[in-house]
Amino acid sequence: MGVKTSMAKDPICGMEVDEATAKYKTEHKGKTYYFCNESCKTTFDKNPAKFAPAQSCCSGHSDDCCTT
Ligand SMILES: [Zn+2]
Repeated sequence: MGVKTSMAKDPICGMEVDEATAKYKTEHKGKTYYFCNESCKTTFDKNPAKFAPAQSCCSGHSDDCCTT
């Protein structure tokens, strides 16, 4: 209780994954993503662009300046 650990969100299933103990992780564009199991990692590795949060000039605001 009350212990603050660094939790990452599995981008595939949305589960919270403890970064310290995560067995499955991968790097994409300089960012590390953590997964709850190998299946989620494999899904991500097949198509990282689909699951990684979009990095664009619009990050941090919701204007449509760079959406198509
Ligand atoms: Zn998962």
